[in-house]
Amino acid sequence: MRLLTTVAALRCYLTKRCSENKLIAVTEDLKLDEMTGWYQTAVGLVPTMGNLHQGHLSLIQRARQENSTVIVTIFVNPLQFAPNEDYQRYPRTLELDQQFCEQAGVDAIFAPTPEEMAVPQKSIQESRVTQVIPPSAMITGLCGRSRLGHFQGVATIVTKLFNLIQPDRAYFGQKDGQQLAIIKRLVADLNLPVEIVGCPTMREASGLAFSSRNQYLTVTAKEQAAALYRGLRRAEAAFIAGDRNSNKLIALVQQEVAIVSTILVEYIELVEPTTLMSLEKVQEEGMLAIAARLGSTRLIDNIILRDRQPIIAIDGPAGAGKSTVARQVAANLNLVYLDTGAMYRAVTWLVLQKGIAINDECAIAQLTNQCKIELTPNQDLQSSVRVWIDGTDVTQAIRTIEVTSIVSAIAAQSYVRQALVKQQQNWGKRGGLVAEGRDIGTHVFPDAEVKIFLTASVSERARRRQEDFNKQGQPEMSLEQLERDIAERDWKDSTRKVSPLQKAADAVEVQTDGLNISEVTTQIVNYYQQRLSQ
Ligand code: AMP
Repeated sequence: MRLLTTVAALRCYLTKRCSENKLIAVTEDLKLDEMTGWYQTAVGLVPTMGNLHQGHLSLIQRARQENSTVIVTIFVNPLQFAPNEDYQRYPRTLELDQQFCEQAGVDAIFAPTPEEMAVPQKSIQESRVTQVIPPSAMITGLCGRSRLGHFQGVATIVTKLFNLIQPDRAYFGQKDGQQLAIIKRLVADLNLPVEIVGCPTMREASGLAFSSRNQYLTVTAKEQAAALYRGLRRAEAAFIAGDRNSNKLIALVQQEVAIVSTILVEYIELVEPTTLMSLEKVQEEGMLAIAARLGSTRLIDNIILRDRQPIIAIDGPAGAGKSTVARQVAANLNLVYLDTGAMYRAVTWLVLQKGIAINDECAIAQLTNQCKIELTPNQDLQSSVRVWIDGTDVTQAIRTIEVTSIVSAIAAQSYVRQALVKQQQNWGKRGGLVAEGRDIGTHVFPDAEVKIFLTASVSERARRRQEDFNKQGQPEMSLEQLERDIAERDWKDSTRKVSPLQKAADAVEVQTDGLNISEVTTQIVNYYQQRLSQ
């Protein structure tokens, strides 16, 4: 791991890394897995102010999963502290942070001084740097009310870091929900070529969100601080039970927090999570946020309240029966089977239809972003969804040999994947989906209500594959050969540096040896019902 403290060293490191990656991309077989080939040369950035803890670690781990290069920046940004805030006192623990990053598999830390970042050690109001100013409606509410200039300071420094590092993805915590919304907006408004990945809040056993500022708290104060999350959870319980009214939900948080007399509430608000506009009632989604002081320590926390039908995400090794099971589960629960494979096939069909060359990535990117794909439920379990592209029903047409033979090459194109994942996530807002496939529960729907890791032993999967081949009248292949192939594929999948096949921490494993499809389906349906009743 490298520790870089100057802009010159950072630039040099990135240039070298980029040429190494290009070399790897040429020499290694990146088509190994068409869905993840595009991760192999990506740079992931985790911006922090240091004093790293479990919250930061979760961002680093996610970045490690999805990128070949992971850079953590450690910079206590003077621009985002008002004159009366804790800039001088903020914990600086570079040596410990270095060990922490080393263990987490970070490639490089960028830890510049304010001079190196060309910012004065002053608040944004007092400094004369060019400023990035987010929309005023997003920076005047919530924390913006008491922290004047804070989000301008954050937006300015994050823009500088994006320009310096030019990451493919940058990772931010939902813990700072207002910051996350503002940065997503900044990236969209300025067309910055980076994907912003929001990561769930990590908490101590008491429920208190990890924060560098927790170390200002005494043991007793820490126990008291857990009341913030207890309050949010109480409102969440009421929300799940059907309460949608903002005042009612806010009052519940207030009541819970008021039990601890040392907590001084600054605000409790319910806002729309992307625009941060105040909500009277939660329609689809709301962010219930709190800021409070315990002595001189200011703490924030929030929770997302989502009124949608659940999403079931099914992942697991090749040949475990994911798509068959996903179809059955969807049919059984009357949910939509999100046939992502069919989406790639539909785009491929359109590429062929328009006579676009499959290596013309720009034309295909344009086409993918302009076309309209629809999946509608179908009674027939064999093709449980009907597939439409630009108003044409292509359910049958996408199953031809022509489409099958080039769909992998199209799916490996990063812009195709980005556009289709965005579309899938848009559908996800309404919920009511069963989705399967590589990184579906970790990347596409990390907040899926139910995550299943479907697996079976190598010998079982070989036996099933042989059965399939026999049914399709394909030439006989020995079980030993099939087992070898599957074991090799498993090994490659799980040892790959980027995006290895892994069970999501919150997924439940379903071992399917000796079970038939309907038994597996029943297990998943039972688990789903049990989860929902909790
Ligand atoms: P900071 O060092 O406090 O500026 O935080 C750096 C990043 O870590 C921000 O994107 C935070 O939202 C994120 N972060 C801080 N605490 C947590 C937590 N408890 N869980 C998840 N992410 C966090």
